[in-house]
Amino acid sequence: MVVIKRFKKQAIIGFIFLIFLIAGWFYPIIGFMVPACMLFGIGVAFLKGRKWCDWYCPRGCFYDSMLKFASPQRKIPDFFKKMPLRLVILSFLITVMTLQIIRHWPNPFEIGKVFMTILTATTVIGVILGLIFHQRNWCYLCPVGTMTNLFGKNKYPLKFNSDNCVNCKLCVKTCPMQLEPNVTLSDDCLKCGTCVDVCPKKALDL
Ligand code: SF4
Ligand code: SF4
Repeated sequence: MVVIKRFKKQAIIGFIFLIFLIAGWFYPIIGFMVPACMLFGIGVAFLKGRKWCDWYCPRGCFYDSMLKFASPQRKIPDFFKKMPLRLVILSFLITVMTLQIIRHWPNPFEIGKVFMTILTATTVIGVILGLIFHQRNWCYLCPVGTMTNLFGKNKYPLKFNSDNCVNCKLCVKTCPMQLEPNVTLSDDCLKCGTCVDVCPKKALDL
């Protein structure tokens, strides 16, 4: 079953993420994994949209497999989904990161610390949002999520057959991004296949 396999992968990667998050403060060179992950996620977007954010993204895995159980699973406010806000956050974080890299150039340990600081700060914000609203709230604000949304438009789209749909909304209830694949297709779809798996009428496909 897609859902169980996905959860197992997310739990393993999410656990590794926590180890890296701690180890990175003792060995800042680990921080270079951050830009590597960003570039990989953007590369995936050109072929498969936000597939990176499904179970490749270590932080997304941590949110879905661990934070989820402490989250009240409230509706993510529409405010966080607005593209202008997402672009402001993307621009802000890229600017801060660039200025700090220039400041510490060419010291790899200090630059690694810059990456670790940004990773830790944004993860903490994500955890707070998860504890207030929903574990994937941050994924609407994450710079990689915004870029993969923009670069991955219409890539590897979910297919929906409205003739088969009986409007049971099981897909809506299980979507980790709180999307409505039975109503509209979204560029924030993670291509996770959860909705495809739960649909009793095979109205969805990837
Ligand atoms: S719409 Fe379906 S495939 Fe897309 S994120 Fe939601 S559950 Fe996953
Ligand atoms: S789970 Fe399938 S049948 Fe139910 S609302 Fe979603 S697409 Fe329609």
